[in-house]
Amino acid sequence: DAPTEHTEIHQLDEDTVARIAAGEVVERPASAVKELTENSLDADASRIDVTVENGGTELVRVADDGHGMSEADLRAAVRQHTTSKIAGLEDLESGVATLGFRGEALHTIGSVSRMTIRSRPRDGDGAGTELVFEGGEMVSVEPVGCPGGTTVEVVDLFYNTPARRKFLKTTATEFAHVNRIVTRYALANPDVAVSLTHDDREVFATTGQGDLQAAVLAVYGREVASAMILVEVDGESLPPGPLESVSGLVSHPETNRSSSEYLATYVNGRAVTADAIREGIMGAYGTQLGGDRYPFVVCFHEVSGDAVDVNVHPRKREVRFDDDDAVRRQVDAAIESALLEHGLLRSRAPRG
Ligand code: ADP
Ligand code: MG
Repeated sequence: DAPTEHTEIHQLDEDTVARIAAGEVVERPASAVKELTENSLDADASRIDVTVENGGTELVRVADDGHGMSEADLRAAVRQHTTSKIAGLEDLESGVATLGFRGEALHTIGSVSRMTIRSRPRDGDGAGTELVFEGGEMVSVEPVGCPGGTTVEVVDLFYNTPARRKFLKTTATEFAHVNRIVTRYALANPDVAVSLTHDDREVFATTGQGDLQAAVLAVYGREVASAMILVEVDGESLPPGPLESVSGLVSHPETNRSSSEYLATYVNGRAVTADAIREGIMGAYGTQLGGDRYPFVVCFHEVSGDAVDVNVHPRKREVRFDDDDAVRRQVDAAIESALLEHGLLRSRAPRG
């Protein structure tokens, strides 16, 4: 028998549920930039051009020369939970090589914006297709002339979710988030030419020549690039712990900033933050940095097996290790040895 007593609890309609879920995946323009850039990297692009207007609130465009999509691919790609990257759970357990695999980004972005995708398979003579998607509805799919690769254009993000739109910060703040994301990926992929343009001004463009030092120069400029030293420590040279290698570039202690945003750290190629890594870095510099000052760091950490959960959720940039203390000691030792080698640390013993 159906209950007849009155209740305040009722089922939300599908549209409301979908928009709430979307707000959790795409929180701000930078989240769309992150998802689209990851898709371009997963598509094996050798160039990625990111263009935003008004901090990304008016326009986010990510253009790549990756493998592209056929019309059928494109129609499938914007459906919910569609992916070409994994088949099922067993693929997750054996570890995923791609940055994405949940199959939710394109559909979600398209449900809270007006989204146009132009794509043409890079190999073969397939034609280009333009798909227009608006507030979760397919508006049109038409043939179009376009270069091989994919361009996704996201206009009026959150136009149909006013509550979310209201929480967007100033253009400067939203752009800072976008800049941080694109910078992270540009530095991690020096073999990909990555450019970022904001309101018609080119913010940076890497050459894609495959050199981390050159990528740092393109992104942070000459002063910072010339203050970077190489870190490359692995195997026996590291104290015991889950990390197998620590490599990258770190700045002279005098080249520092008051924000920790220039600590670009990666674990197994993914841009993440981890308290243990950050504490290891700061420990290596010790008192050489003034209070609340941070160096420039672009550091890659490789761990084996299951010492860290590599399938970190896309919204979570923070990872934890089984043994944080060991990781902290390993990072500290690796960076300290590089700084010492370059005579950049006052020895910890008294001077004179
Ligand atoms: P996921 O990346 O988790 O698979 P997305 O919703 O981001 O989910 O993308 C869905 C699918 O669309 C991808 O699996 C991929 O096959 C295709 N796709 C998305 N972006 C691109 C792109 N830039 N180039 C080629 N294929 C793409
Ligand atoms: Mg994706």
